[in-house]
Amino acid sequence: GRASPPLAALAQVLRLERSRRAGIVFPLQKLERYLAPGTDTARFRLFQPGLAALQRAEALFRSDRGHPIDYVSSAVRTDHAPPPALPEVCFIGRSNVGKSSLIRALFSLAPEVEVRVSKTPGHTKKMNFFKVGKYFTLVDMPGYGYRAPQDFVEMVEAYLQERRNLKRTFLLVDGVVGLQKTDNIAVEMLEEFGIPYVMVLTKIDRASRGVLLKNVLEIQEFVKENTQGCFPQLFLVSSVEFSGVHLLRCFVAHVTGNLPTPEAS
Ligand code: GDP
Repeated sequence: GRASPPLAALAQVLRLERSRRAGIVFPLQKLERYLAPGTDTARFRLFQPGLAALQRAEALFRSDRGHPIDYVSSAVRTDHAPPPALPEVCFIGRSNVGKSSLIRALFSLAPEVEVRVSKTPGHTKKMNFFKVGKYFTLVDMPGYGYRAPQDFVEMVEAYLQERRNLKRTFLLVDGVVGLQKTDNIAVEMLEEFGIPYVMVLTKIDRASRGVLLKNVLEIQEFVKENTQGCFPQLFLVSSVEFSGVHLLRCFVAHVTGNLPTPEAS
């Protein structure tokens, strides 16, 4: 298997100097001091777990003999999906948004897990199911794009409407370019069906602080004004630097009912 990259584990992050560590674990909060005074930052800290919860979540994402993490199957139709026995989360986003990189980062402590990518144009895009022990399943949904939103719409629409065990949808948005018109396809669908979702801003290591701030504030405003089902706190991630990945693992653990107590520190 692959070796885990640096900072994939909390133990490595905890060895960092304080402000660097805070930036890796809570990247959104790191932006706070660059905001105009009086900016409402209540939405920055709705989900703010303590160390115990972060560690509990990490244990879920670390495979071992008694706790296998496996790719289960792929499906183009919901009736070919694995039985809905466990709580489930799914990840959707435009092609190239960084979805496979993020899922790989989440599963970096289970190096035997293979996150497959089928990017061949014209190739049927599938939903890929991963099972995390006996705790939850994670679904990598096909990416949507400029030319072929139709197969995406058909497959994803059916999945979102039918999947009873779906606890939360993670909608990935590119942190460099911000919310795009094509992202509205997904937003409108989630809103129409009343599916609870959360936005994740990817590739934050690539965006300058100014661009990142602009995109964060724009998306927050959009979420506030135009959505019902979107969790008000944005999640920022870099799959290269591992910022936000530990927090996202913790949020997945939380929404799938795998954190014993509501953790807030
Ligand atoms: P997908 O099509 O959504 O699965 O996107 P990929 O995960 O394949 O990523 C698309 C491109 O963005 C690839 O070249 C990745 O190396 C790059 N990428 C993905 N995540 C990050 C990130 O967090 N930081 C940086 N700098 N590049 C990223």
